[in-house]
Amino acid sequence: MTLRISPRVGFEVVVPRGFDHARVPAIVQDRAQWAARHLERIAGLGWSPQAAPARPAALALRAQGREVALRTAHDARKPPALRQLGPDALLLAGDTADQDACRALVRAWLKARAREAFGPRLRALAAAHGLPCARLHLRAQKTRWGSCSASGTISLNCTLLFLPPELADYVLLHELCHIRHLDHSREYWALLETLLPGARALDAALNASAHVPAWLRL
Ligand SMILES: [Zn+2]
Repeated sequence: MTLRISPRVGFEVVVPRGFDHARVPAIVQDRAQWAARHLERIAGLGWSPQAAPARPAALALRAQGREVALRTAHDARKPPALRQLGPDALLLAGDTADQDACRALVRAWLKARAREAFGPRLRALAAAHGLPCARLHLRAQKTRWGSCSASGTISLNCTLLFLPPELADYVLLHELCHIRHLDHSREYWALLETLLPGARALDAALNASAHVPAWLRL
């Protein structure tokens, strides 16, 4: 049997199949103080399970200058599924209360859109600035916008779609410049500033931006 406390779910008791249910209350009672202490700590951080961010009704894909409605048709008997209703509407059907599954579906959709949008854009920027064209991976990371490996593979976060075009472009060029300099050395910034004057200001704007829906950052 597992007792778990997390900011998202709160206090969770997982009882394995075949476990004697009559023993559960005593075990939970035994750990009540431990649970109270940690739930208090979570509350102190400004988190509570009830405050979990809601699913957005629309995805504002600023990089593409469009907004895509996220409609739902709840049916608890079926697993969640995502359907495209048209260019600007998606439908989440099935058990839409399963937030993790819904999030995974939306992320997969975003990854495909990000590949369509940023693949050609990355090639165009590389060509325009005489940089080698990289292989592209799309990810759904929580904290990083992008990264560049020593072998020249650029990974981009699909949530770049939520940024204004100039900030998304900045991230693409930032990673392309890492193909020349893998670090953030003076030479690296000099190259980036030459190709994109004002790059440092864009970098600061990027860190301060809160464009990605909180629901997707879980
Ligand atoms: Zn960097």
